Amino acid sequence: MERLSFLDQELQSLKEQGLYRLPRTLSGEQKAVSIYDGKSVVNLSSNNYLGLANHPRLVEAALKATRKYGVGSGAVRTIAGQMDLHREFEEKLADFKKVEACLLFQSGFTANSGTVSCILGREDVIISDELNHASIIDGSRLSRAEIKVYPHADLDGLRARLEETGGRQKLIVTDGVFSMDGDIAPLPEIVSLAREFEALVMIDDAHASGVLGQNGRGTVDHYNLHGEVDIQVGTLSKAIGVLGGYVAGPQKLIDYLIQRARPVLFSTSAPPAVAAAALAALEILLEKPELIDRLWENTEFFRSGLQRQGFNTGASATPIIPVIVGDERQAMRLADGLFEQGVFAQGIAFPTVQKGKARVRTIVSAAHSRKDLEYALDTFVQVGRSLGII
Ligand SMILES: *Cc1c(COP(=O)(O)O)cnc(C)c1O
Repeated sequence: MERLSFLDQELQSLKEQGLYRLPRTLSGEQKAVSIYDGKSVVNLSSNNYLGLANHPRLVEAALKATRKYGVGSGAVRTIAGQMDLHREFEEKLADFKKVEACLLFQSGFTANSGTVSCILGREDVIISDELNHASIIDGSRLSRAEIKVYPHADLDGLRARLEETGGRQKLIVTDGVFSMDGDIAPLPEIVSLAREFEALVMIDDAHASGVLGQNGRGTVDHYNLHGEVDIQVGTLSKAIGVLGGYVAGPQKLIDYLIQRARPVLFSTSAPPAVAAAALAALEILLEKPELIDRLWENTEFFRSGLQRQGFNTGASATPIIPVIVGDERQAMRLADGLFEQGVFAQGIAFPTVQKGKARVRTIVSAAHSRKDLEYALDTFVQVGRSLGII
């Protein structure tokens, strides 16, 4: 269409910069070995950490809830879309997280953007790690608060930003596990700076929910900082295997979000099947912590294997293991070569990561067998050598 011709130039420019990527298409289930673009590959790209996305118990719970309640919730929560299933899940999740209350959102994205934007305003300051997720950045902009960014996980940088804020209301916000590097935020030190400067703390546990802490309770539990972090955001879309987000914290925070958070007020609540499947996932986390142990064993096996072969896995301390290559085109060649040989791991370049820090990002799951991971390691070595990366 002529009126949209300006988009042709934009698309052309993305192609020229090598930034135009088409998503691969999955046929069948999301699992450790999956069919992408018609090819069977070891799947190192999914956030399905515990293999719950196609777990029979979750599938059964979703089917049962669908038969009983139907497929849709029918409205935004504050009008007519709050179901007893949603409430039951929130209460169980609050107990699990050891907080007073929880509130479900449609996604981790809306949980972050809806929360940050509604609890802070023009007079306030948001102090944000430079590698925080896009949904935190969007929420910060929507709040109209002043945004101060500190260098990644840099406590001196954080202190310097805090010193500039005077007596204003301030919120320090950080990812728990960083999605491109797989490192864990230095939360104890962040909390102690927050106390010193009377700041609030919010953590985005998208990649820590179901992964870190006892039974997968998250970063706060990992560091035993219960009661010290004001706002915990998490996702049901990754390790929990379904879709959705949540905020966990004091009752008055949740009371306020129900009144004011725009995704709660203006966007329809999750289908009943989502709440039912997430409830089943929570039961599995409590009953079968060995699933999380298996995730960590696989992580250690794969990361140490890559390192032994001379790959640079950066600061990874979690199942997110980047293979940092540096050059953008080399990273894409590595990802393409791996896929040809039956291993699916995403090539990631600027603007998702800094220029010169391009990488292939791998995510290990509890569902991978030793054989899957050995095959992936051998393939990394073979393709890595042929490209001169190791
Ligand atoms: C994936 C992700 C989100 C968004 O979660 P969704 O449930 O997929 O919307 C938020 N924050 C971080 C750090 C993430 O990695």
